[in-house]
Amino acid sequence: MSAPQAPVQRADFDQVMVPNYAPAAFIPVRGAGSRVWDQAGRELIDFAGGIAVNVLGHAHPALVGALTEQANKLWHVSNVFTNEPALRLAHKLVDATFADRAFFCNSGAEANEAAFKLARRVAHDRFGPEKHEIIATVNSFHGRTLFTVSVGGQPKYSDGFGPKITGISHVPYNDLEALKAQISDKTCAVVIEPIQGESGVVPADIAYLQGARELCNKHNALLIFDEVQTGVGRTGSLFAYQHYGVTPDILSSAKSLGGGFPIGAMLTTEDLAKHLTVGTHGTTYGGNPLACAVANAVLDIVNTPEVLAGVKAKHERFKKRLEQIGEKYGLFTQVRGVGLLIGCVLSEAWKGKAKEVFNAAEKENLMVLQAGPDVVRFAPSLVVEDADIDEGLDRFERAAAKLTQA
Ligand SMILES: *Cc1c(COP(=O)(O)O)cnc(C)c1O
Repeated sequence: MSAPQAPVQRADFDQVMVPNYAPAAFIPVRGAGSRVWDQAGRELIDFAGGIAVNVLGHAHPALVGALTEQANKLWHVSNVFTNEPALRLAHKLVDATFADRAFFCNSGAEANEAAFKLARRVAHDRFGPEKHEIIATVNSFHGRTLFTVSVGGQPKYSDGFGPKITGISHVPYNDLEALKAQISDKTCAVVIEPIQGESGVVPADIAYLQGARELCNKHNALLIFDEVQTGVGRTGSLFAYQHYGVTPDILSSAKSLGGGFPIGAMLTTEDLAKHLTVGTHGTTYGGNPLACAVANAVLDIVNTPEVLAGVKAKHERFKKRLEQIGEKYGLFTQVRGVGLLIGCVLSEAWKGKAKEVFNAAEKENLMVLQAGPDVVRFAPSLVVEDADIDEGLDRFERAAAKLTQA
C-alpha cells in the first residue's frame, strides 16, 4: 500500500508549477469511458479527450489490463536491449501502413524531431550538405522542442528563444502554387499536417496533398506527414494519409497511439531508415515496454472495421447536431474536420472568443477544446457512446444558449 498523500488543490499549481500553463479551475481525479469526475465529485462529459489522446476514453479495461499485466512483468530495459512489446508494436504498424520500419520515442515533438533529422540525414548522405532546406506551412504545429517550433509556422511559439534552426521556410497551407514557388533542389523535406489541428482543424485538399507528393518526387525531397493529431483512427482511417490516398515517405504519430500513455513513433521505409545507422539517434525511454504494451492494445481495438466505421458514424452525429446549434444561436458558421476531429468556426460576432465557449461548456459540465481563438474543437474518444454524444451536446447547447443570451 502507498503512504497517505497530502491534500492538494488547484491553488497549489500557482505555487509549485512553472507557470507555462493555465489549467482550468477544477482538478479531474477519475475517469471512466467518456466521463470524468473532479475532486468535488462533479461529473463531466469529456469531448476533449486529453487533446486527441484518450482514443478509447478513460480507464478502458483492455488498456488497464495491458498496462497492469506489463507492469507486473518488465517496466524498462533501455535500448541496450530490445523488448517484446516494442517488436510486436512495430510489426503491427508496419503491417498496417506504407512503412517498413518504426522508431519509438515518447511524444509527438520527439517523433517529428526524428522525422526532421532523418530527412536531413538522408539528403546529406545522398546529395550533400546543400540539400537541407525544410518547407513547412504557415500556422502549422509540430511540437515544442527548438527544432519543432522552428519548423512550426507559429512565431509565438518560436520567437524569444535565441537563434532558431535555420534552413526552414513557411508557405501558406493548402496553397500548391506557393509550395511550387518555394520548392527547389535544395529542399530535403516538405512537412504537412493532413489536417492542421492546433491552428483550427483545417483539412488539406486532396489535390494539395497529391500536388505536394508530385513536387517532392520531382525535387528528390521527402514528404513528411505529421499525423500526431490525425493518426490512429481519428479520421475513420487508421492514418489520415490512407483517408486521402496520398502516401508520405515519413510519418510521425503520438497522441492517440498510447491512448493516454506517453509514446511517439516515426514510421518510414527501409530505404530511408537505413540512414539512421547505429548511434546516429536515440532516446532512453523510446520503445519502453509499458508504453508499447498499451499501444499494442490501442491498435488491436482501433484498427478494426467496427471502430473505424463507428468514427465516421459518430462524425455525422456530431456534425448534424453542431450545425443545428451553431445556426440556432448564431455561434458558428461552419463545422469542419474529419472523423472525430471536429472544429466549429466561430461566427463574426464570436471571433476570438473560443475561450469563452470553453468556459461556458465547463459550467455545463462538458470538456471541449479550443483550436486557436476562433475555433471550438472536439476530439473525443473514438468509442464514445451515442448516448454520451447526445447528452454532451445537450450540455453544449445549454452553454450556447446561456452564452448568447448573456
Ligand atoms: C500535439 C502535436 C504535436 C506535439 O506532440 P507532443 O506530444 O505535445 O510533443 C506535434 N504535431 C501535431 C500535429 C500535434 O497535434
